[in-house]
Amino acid sequence: MSITSTQRRVVVLLPRCTPAYTDDRLLGAACGLANTSGQPLDVIELCSPDTAPTPLVMASASTWWHATHPALSQPISDSLVKAGLQALAASGLLAGSTPLLVLIPPGPQGCEVAARLATHLGASALGGCSSISLAGERVIAQRAGWGGRVEMTLHSDERVCVATLRSAGIAQDTPIAREKPCLRTLALDGSAPPAFEITPVAHTDALPPLEGASIVVSGGRGMQGKEGFDLLRTIAELLGASLGGSLPTVDAGWVPVSRQIGQSGKFVSPRLYLAVGISGTPQHLAGIGPDTPIVALNKDPCAPIFKVAQAGVVGDWQEMLPLLVRELKAAR
Ligand SMILES: Cc1cc2nc3c(=O)[nH]c(=O)nc-3n(C[C@H](O)[C@H](O)[C@H](O)COP(=O)(O)OP(=O)(O)OC[C@H]3O[C@@H](n4cnc5c(N)ncnc54)[C@H](O)[C@@H]3O)c2cc1C
Repeated sequence: MSITSTQRRVVVLLPRCTPAYTDDRLLGAACGLANTSGQPLDVIELCSPDTAPTPLVMASASTWWHATHPALSQPISDSLVKAGLQALAASGLLAGSTPLLVLIPPGPQGCEVAARLATHLGASALGGCSSISLAGERVIAQRAGWGGRVEMTLHSDERVCVATLRSAGIAQDTPIAREKPCLRTLALDGSAPPAFEITPVAHTDALPPLEGASIVVSGGRGMQGKEGFDLLRTIAELLGASLGGSLPTVDAGWVPVSRQIGQSGKFVSPRLYLAVGISGTPQHLAGIGPDTPIVALNKDPCAPIFKVAQAGVVGDWQEMLPLLVRELKAAR
């Protein structure tokens, strides 16, 4: 697909409660898209009034809107939708005739906020996209459907499109100029949505979440059942790591969907990814950062995972993992 010049303007809505690594990736992707479009990039940072602006170095001709709203002292989805709508209006971006692509960081809250914003704006809701490109004014978005079983390509010419985006699939062939953005402030007001009453619920899953984990221990269909994952869980506990799984293991109910890694699951970029009984399909690897060192254990020496792994062991996990558990316990 060839990319032609376009007038669509890219706007990033950035709730400050989002983990920083996601922000950086999303901003990098947005810079690439803005460069393609030849339009300035706008980043709207949504935060509470007591938060200082934290502009990042961006593509040339970008504006960093520091939008504060009292409701954001509790960054629940209601507050983010309310503040996001007000900020888009107050910035004047909605008023012009220029088509907009509004990008929001991924994750369950990002998806909810994106869908609700799109509804309020009468915009095209593109959902959680794995990649987005611009061709003329058209937005072309790739996303998974039916729990990741189909890959869809969406085309939209709506004046406003809203999407969450994982940066993994962004093609960035245009060099990005690095410049300090122009900083502008938007002091928004209005009543805060009623606060939720928060009731702490005891978590049954003691392992840390995938988001931000520095080590991920991950299992595939080769683990053959929940018992195999119990062993991976023990290893994760011993390493202080998080636990992940491939799509078939989620389908089989061996790991919760919140721990699925890949194109239709989560994106991780730990310092170490231990892949056990995972063949290494492109759909799974799409969920692992390109700089992440992978250590693979697979009984098939021809498994594709070995082509991308920094270190690999050909063997049966039933023999190897108990040895690893023993060594890790001894090392403690
Ligand atoms: C649109 C779309 C989206 C998708 N999204 C995702 C996604 O987000 N995440 C994802 O993971 N997949 C996704 N998939 C599915 C993907 O195509 C593969 O089916 C999946 O990644 C394979 O998972 P696996 O490696 O666990 O299983 P398999 O490919 O079956 O591999 C199992 C591996 O285990 C090894 N093994 C078996 N027994 C042992 C043993 N005893 N010891 C050691 N090794 C052993 C085998 O040699 C094999 O390599 C998607 C597919 C589509 C079409």
